[in-house]
Amino acid sequence: MKLIDGKQTAADIRAGLKARAAAFSCKYGLPVGLAVVLIGDDPASAVYVRNKIKACEEVGIRSFAHILPADATQETAENEVRRLAEDASVHGILVQLPLPAHLAASRILARIPAAKDVDGFSVENVGLLAKGERGTVACTPLGVMELLRRYRIPTAGKRAVVIGRSNTVGKPMAMLLIGADATVTVCHSKTQDLAAVCRQADILVAAVGRPKTVTADMVKEGAVVIDVGINRDGGKLCGDVDFEGVKDKVSYITPVPGGVGPMTVAMLLQNTLDAAERQV
Ligand code: NAP
Repeated sequence: MKLIDGKQTAADIRAGLKARAAAFSCKYGLPVGLAVVLIGDDPASAVYVRNKIKACEEVGIRSFAHILPADATQETAENEVRRLAEDASVHGILVQLPLPAHLAASRILARIPAAKDVDGFSVENVGLLAKGERGTVACTPLGVMELLRRYRIPTAGKRAVVIGRSNTVGKPMAMLLIGADATVTVCHSKTQDLAAVCRQADILVAAVGRPKTVTADMVKEGAVVIDVGINRDGGKLCGDVDFEGVKDKVSYITPVPGGVGPMTVAMLLQNTLDAAERQV
């Protein structure tokens, strides 16, 4: 078994991005700017936002944190995003999800112009991905593809199974793997005999949000297992895969923490730099 070291890979990527961010500032006389909108007081969201801001600082991207109270109105939230959309010092905008239940997330996200949509969630960017054309791609699945590429794990002709069909992870993950010539199956909560489907996978991606969803009996000998899940099990951070049970059966596996998570943040920074370079 080889461990896929997302933490180290993300650090390598950030080092490259730091040089690119410095070159951008030097050439255009202004830093790359990322606005992060946080609405409400979800503790996990606050941690994610803090990590993203810290990562921005490390690579020399200027971050703008916009924190709105949990009872912010739809109009206030939409106006905040509209203002950022018009601000030339802001090259990327992300709205941290989930939003408080009374807000219509899709209408707020729709205020982000595709050019500044560094999360790749806009209708335009999702449409480009579905067509096999390159727009801005959602950070987590993009990070997974980057890990596969850097570890020289072949995808062409391989059977890939993605567990999860969310708009943010499962669906874009499946589309990227199709684009990389894998034969892709997408599973979800209504899938019958999940274990049998998973056992066919050369590459198994778990994006469920439930600890130990993937157990040893569900994994083919020599498979590559990518664990996207971030869960708390008795206070301890863990993924969707029973790492200890599965590790001796696989060729490659991502740990949690230290696998896909750091790559998501690195891809956000990369998407922000790409967006800035396209806007000047
Ligand atoms: P989500 O929107 O809740 O989607 C979960 C998916 O899993 C759904 O499609 C659901 O099926 C499916 N599912 C649930 N229970 C299942 C079961 N027993 N068998 C098969 N499929 C099942 O979650 P998400 O936003 O995609 O996130 C998934 C996980 O990844 C979470 O732990 C999240 O914290 C983590 N995550 C990590 C990163 C990172 O950077 N590492 C980034 C984003 C998310 P239905 O569609 O039928 O409900």
